[in-house]
Amino acid sequence: MTLKKYQEKRRFDVTPEPFGKQNGKSKKAPSLVYVIQKHRASHLHYDFRLEWNGVLLSWAVPKGPSLDPSVKRLAMHVEDHPIDYATFEGVIPAGEYGGGTVMVWDQGTWEPEQEDVDAALQKGDFKFTLHGKKLKGSWVLVRTRGYGGGSSGKSSWLLIKHRDEYASTEDITESQPYSVVSRRLLADIARDNHGDVEQAATGDPAHKKADEGTDKKTDEKANRVLQKQPPKSSAVKKRPARAKNRARA
Ligand code: MN
Repeated sequence: MTLKKYQEKRRFDVTPEPFGKQNGKSKKAPSLVYVIQKHRASHLHYDFRLEWNGVLLSWAVPKGPSLDPSVKRLAMHVEDHPIDYATFEGVIPAGEYGGGTVMVWDQGTWEPEQEDVDAALQKGDFKFTLHGKKLKGSWVLVRTRGYGGGSSGKSSWLLIKHRDEYASTEDITESQPYSVVSRRLLADIARDNHGDVEQAATGDPAHKKADEGTDKKTDEKANRVLQKQPPKSSAVKKRPARAKNRARA
């Protein structure tokens, strides 16, 4: 585990991202850092990161996490990131590696569910418990024999929620689109950091205008506002879970 790849890909005199230095041995659980950064780069994705051995192990999850145990989300293993990256929220300049807008979508701590984490990672069957603000409970990352691997140094995994009291059919990426540190949408973050607001807004739920997000105290309040709006018929067809929520509201 090394930050060499992370540092090689970036120009630290241009990007506001941290250079990062590798910390020593990881502290004892449960103080291990967990973070998900929502990243509107060339494609929207959610960067899922867990502190281990002094770095953040990182997977890019195009569709983001699902609370539904029957849904498996593709998670591409990417280069380790420095631990201080966990608090990075802002804009990576256009043309730089990962250029676009970054939001701290969820943060907290995690605990391994297996005694030998390195062996679990090696085996490609890695079970852990999240203590985040949005994601909680038991999850697994399973390596697949899909594309990637070998020469690219990347491998494809599946991120899956285990059945427990935190499992749900709620579409959490839709229902909780705000930053857990600043309560901003991607478009708000882009605007505050002289980024591409229009590009960033394509990563926010279509029916939530960036302006609406600025004085929202909580996601709960945002949801109440959202549920008063007439449902878009196409959105309802695509998202049965949301349609059900609306019917209850
Ligand atoms: Mn990313």
